[in-house]
Amino acid sequence: MPARCGEQYLAGLREQEREVWLGGERVRDVTTHPRLSGGARAIASLYDMQLDPKLCDRMTYISPSSSERVGLSFIVPRTREDLERRSTMMLNWARATCGMMGRSPDFMNVTYAAWAGAADFFGQGRREFGENMARYYEYIRENDLTLTHSLINLQRSRTVSGVFNLQEGTALQVVRETDAGIVVRGARILATLGPLADEIGVYSPRMGRHTENHSPFALSFAIPCGAPGLKFLCRDSFDQGRSHFDQPLGSRFEEMDCIVFFDDVLVPWERVFLLGDVDRLNATAHATHSSVHSAHQGACKNLAKCEFVLGTALLMTQVLGNAHLPNVEERIGELMLTTQLTRACIRAAEADAKLDEWGVMCPDPLMAESPRNLFMNAYPRMIEILQLLGSSSFMLTPSEADFKGPLKGEIEQYLATDTTEARDRVKLFRLAWDLAGTSFGSRQVLYERFFASDPLTRARALASIYPKREVMERVLEFLGRDDEE
Ligand SMILES: Cc1cc2nc3c(=O)[nH]c(=O)nc-3n(C[C@H](O)[C@H](O)[C@H](O)COP(=O)(O)OP(=O)(O)OC[C@H]3O[C@@H](n4cnc5c(N)ncnc54)[C@H](O)[C@@H]3O)c2cc1C
Repeated sequence: MPARCGEQYLAGLREQEREVWLGGERVRDVTTHPRLSGGARAIASLYDMQLDPKLCDRMTYISPSSSERVGLSFIVPRTREDLERRSTMMLNWARATCGMMGRSPDFMNVTYAAWAGAADFFGQGRREFGENMARYYEYIRENDLTLTHSLINLQRSRTVSGVFNLQEGTALQVVRETDAGIVVRGARILATLGPLADEIGVYSPRMGRHTENHSPFALSFAIPCGAPGLKFLCRDSFDQGRSHFDQPLGSRFEEMDCIVFFDDVLVPWERVFLLGDVDRLNATAHATHSSVHSAHQGACKNLAKCEFVLGTALLMTQVLGNAHLPNVEERIGELMLTTQLTRACIRAAEADAKLDEWGVMCPDPLMAESPRNLFMNAYPRMIEILQLLGSSSFMLTPSEADFKGPLKGEIEQYLATDTTEARDRVKLFRLAWDLAGTSFGSRQVLYERFFASDPLTRARALASIYPKREVMERVLEFLGRDDEE
């Protein structure tokens, strides 16, 4: 099956029964559940974009194996042009969801594409693992599957060193090997998009150090979300079941986050990519450059998100008539700066891209990674700026029902501004509140702070690739000048 349309994606979710729990009840059909279906429809609309005749050329490419058109985020980039085409495609998707769905399918597609490009890395430990990776990538590309992932083991306590505290009975581990595959047990967090995905990828981030050379906790595999024994436990849904007018973002883009329980789940051998090999697991993201490709995807999402927050802020100042106030100008300037820095990093990452040792065109690591670190603090600040700009207007937001109720006249008379009718003002500020104040908006802030791991780990990741010698030598050269002068 080549690139799918939205209905094919939804049918795939319905066909694969999975164990999803929300609010104490088992969800039978995620595509019709009132608290999950909005997110499912949003992902479906992304798939529809691929087949839109006006966009198809920019959203898909010709598969090297089937000669059919497949999703462009699956491409293994070999040239700068491939990277640029991929980022245009990813930006199209991110703009369609206002940057609010961090886990649009391209998030995982670029990771597995990088791994397929570097499949030999997986084969260096055990040859069959490299073959498994190449075959799996082709399978998800040709079937246009959506993946979720869960990287982090639940911990009962934190160590000072930052080493993951992996405890038997809590963390995910292999409990036995059989002829059919490995059997795994334990719990992982935090599978965003879990209920709305076809498959789940399970591995560990680069900085997550395990303590032994060979460990039952060291795993990389992928299985269908409906695999027996796999259970997704959802947090509260932030889709409150309101209209698009009342909750413009939450009613559309709830991507859900889940704890995942693995209750003696069988992972077939052909789906195992690494097993027990601590060093290779820790090295994966760096050695294959999947971290950089993932950062490139994230930067496109960040740009779409920046544009959306900036656009909202500009409209707010227009409606309130305060755009000319100096403190407002200063704050808008800050939003513009973050937006342009993100845009510049994406361009630089692509312009300075190089072929890596696997023959894959890799964005410049530092330029691709920087927006990810920047956004951990910049996005919360952007939302703070929205709050500072909006003030009480966030609270002057009657519902759609109020516009039809007995106070309709008063609302329309008193909530109008010099530039804007009451309804348009309220519509805009309900959107701004969904960004800046609702549970949906707060979760977006938490997401940007933590989705790519905690601040310390991210700082270490950036420091590990920063060219430190050059700047130190410049200072040493300066310090040495006295002697020569
Ligand atoms: C909305 C959201 C969606 C997410 N989606 C996914 C997903 O789809 N897949 C996935 O795998 N993961 C996902 N994550 C999980 C994410 O990877 C983790 O939240 C992240 O790695 C941080 O781990 P933690 O939450 O256990 O925080 P902790 O490690 O407990 O960190 C909490 C705080 O304590 C500090 N801290 C912890 N240990 C130390 C230490 N030793 N020294 C100094 N400071 C320390 C951290 O810096 C941080 O400020 C998501 C997270 C969020 C919030």
